[in-house]
Amino acid sequence: MAKVVVLGAGISGHTAVSYLSKYLKKGHEVVMVSPNSNFQWIPSNIWVGVGLMTPDQVKFKLAPVYKKMGVVYKQAMAVSIHPEGDAEHNKGYVTIKYVTGDDKDKEEKVTYDFLVNATGPKLNFEATEGLGPHKFTESVCTYDHAAHAWEKLQESFKKMENGQKQTFLVGTGHPLATCQGAAFEYILNIAFEIKKRKLMHLAEMWWISNEYELGDFGMGGAYVKRNGYVTPTKIFTESILKEYGIDWIKRAGVTKVEEGVVHYETLDGEFKTKEFDFAMLIPGFAGAGMKAFNKQGDDISSEVFAANGMMKVDADYTPKSYEEWKAEDWPSTYQSIKYDNVYAAGIAFAPPHGMSKPMESPNGTKIFPTPPRTGMPSGVIGKIVAQNIAHSIKKGKIEHPHQASMARMGAACIVSAGYGIRKGQAAVMTVNPIVPDWEKYPKWGRNIDDTVGVVGTAGHWMKLFMHHMFLYKAKAKPFWWLIPE
Ligand SMILES: Cc1cc2nc3c(=O)[nH]c(=O)nc-3n(C[C@H](O)[C@H](O)[C@H](O)COP(=O)(O)OP(=O)(O)OC[C@H]3O[C@@H](n4cnc5c(N)ncnc54)[C@H](O)[C@@H]3O)c2cc1C
Repeated sequence: MAKVVVLGAGISGHTAVSYLSKYLKKGHEVVMVSPNSNFQWIPSNIWVGVGLMTPDQVKFKLAPVYKKMGVVYKQAMAVSIHPEGDAEHNKGYVTIKYVTGDDKDKEEKVTYDFLVNATGPKLNFEATEGLGPHKFTESVCTYDHAAHAWEKLQESFKKMENGQKQTFLVGTGHPLATCQGAAFEYILNIAFEIKKRKLMHLAEMWWISNEYELGDFGMGGAYVKRNGYVTPTKIFTESILKEYGIDWIKRAGVTKVEEGVVHYETLDGEFKTKEFDFAMLIPGFAGAGMKAFNKQGDDISSEVFAANGMMKVDADYTPKSYEEWKAEDWPSTYQSIKYDNVYAAGIAFAPPHGMSKPMESPNGTKIFPTPPRTGMPSGVIGKIVAQNIAHSIKKGKIEHPHQASMARMGAACIVSAGYGIRKGQAAVMTVNPIVPDWEKYPKWGRNIDDTVGVVGTAGHWMKLFMHHMFLYKAKAKPFWWLIPE
């Protein structure tokens, strides 16, 4: 009998736990530790942020689903991991802290045979003074944030209906922030809503980003096939912004926000400000902030986690210059660098380096996007980690027949604006592989036949379809496993 503990019921952890419960039948125990009682389909938070969906449409309660799966669910935060156990425990354990009910703040030590850390990103608003929904800017990173953003957006719409001009600023809120795709989708949705209300003449719309060129998206940009031509994502992205009447500020690291004004530094080393009435800026991401201890109780966090708090896995972390980066540096099994029975899935694993070229201002401020880990790779990684653990349990020794490197895997990104069958439009981009491989594909960095950009209504239908399909899968409804990640 084996016990597998998964930390974090997000896209990656929930996928892992679903497959573990499918593969490990009676006699084994699967435990999920996660603080939020709901699962949320984060990509649809964009629609919550423009009032086209309610938070209830993008989330559901985890407890009944885990009951159906036979998964033990603990509504708690993981605080520290002890992979070698201690004097009382002769196997690894996690210290968790309950977040609700009579047990609130109670700590428990949960032992495991295998541990999956899928704690995603900490939304690091504190890294930028004045950033975040409790301060001066909005966020769409959670359904609560998105609902708050929609309230604020409506205030701006009301002012415009009364003839008052409004400035909208959307983009990245930290010099090293990633997730440009989500912010990009949000600004297009705001523009769509303003146009729908025939208020565009009263709107000044600005995109602000730490990208060297627009369309970098933390992937070092891409060349996409579009209508038979190969187009850089810079042109693809700029033409979409132009079409929606949006101006842009690029190479900008936001360092501070005050009421109605953003302070940023440019790659040229200039310090500038931009005034706004409504701003949604994505924060920097960090690891969940767990600590790690050895058997003697010494803090070994720096051996287990990278400086940003994400877990070190089977990647090549040797410091290298941009020119030396290789596709093989990226991990494929997500097994901890230090402990064989510990894995990190989704955003929780530490990437070996970026994909975008590191850039620094003359003042020494690093301004460039860190690598994105979107939903599809997060789901795929969760699945292969579960498959390998189930395999190892059945075999009685640790083996990894399933691998999923982001340098070998493709991904699709759908940036959709509007809502409904006839009124939506989307830009769809597929890249293969996600991490550019200049050795294998010396001309374009990626397989140009699979790296495509299209704009149209069909992509929008796909996004809507994905919303329903992935929520169906996450609820573990009949034959859920037939739906791909
Ligand atoms: C607004 C927005 C739109 C997006 N749109 C898209 C899109 O269209 N397509 C796409 O592919 N990707 C999209 N993404 C990215 C996608 O949401 C992420 O790639 C994905 O959620 C990452 O999955 P994850 O499981 O690693 O992390 P998460 O989904 O963030 O899950 C992490 C989980 O860990 C829990 N947790 C945190 N700390 C602890 C702890 N200490 N102990 C236990 N549990 C903990 C959290 O509560 C959460 O449940 C979007 C992201 C955002 C913010």
